[in-house]
Amino acid sequence: MRMETCPLLDPSAASRRECPWRDCRKPLPRLRRRWCSDACGLRFGIEHDFSREAILQRDKVCVRCGGTEHMEVNHKVPREGRGYNSGCYNHLEGLELLCRACHVVTTTMQRKWQRLAAAAQRCGENTARLL
Ligand SMILES: [Zn+2]
Ligand SMILES: [Zn+2]
Ligand SMILES: [Zn+2]
Repeated sequence: MRMETCPLLDPSAASRRECPWRDCRKPLPRLRRRWCSDACGLRFGIEHDFSREAILQRDKVCVRCGGTEHMEVNHKVPREGRGYNSGCYNHLEGLELLCRACHVVTTTMQRKWQRLAAAAQRCGENTARLL
């Protein structure tokens, strides 16, 4: 994970000795090198490590049906390959709490959509070749 490319952070904040969160930007107290406070440092961890607990606390119930059984966390933009490493795809705004039933439906829809998008792209390439 490269923090310079994180859209939640201001890459130039360090040079002004400010907290790099775009919605914080407090001046860094003496002896602080990166974050203005432990809370901001902790937030970076929560936003970048897959955090089931944080999503549970925020959403509490399935965001589709309001169910409360078998809660699972869904990446709104589907993860490819190893999904649970730390990185910017774990930003809390990109995660949502779903019950298992809604998660299955959502994942199936996402896969279908990916296949359709890939097919449309191939189709476009073939058409371009014909022209
Ligand atoms: Zn801060
Ligand atoms: Zn549900
Ligand atoms: Zn990030």
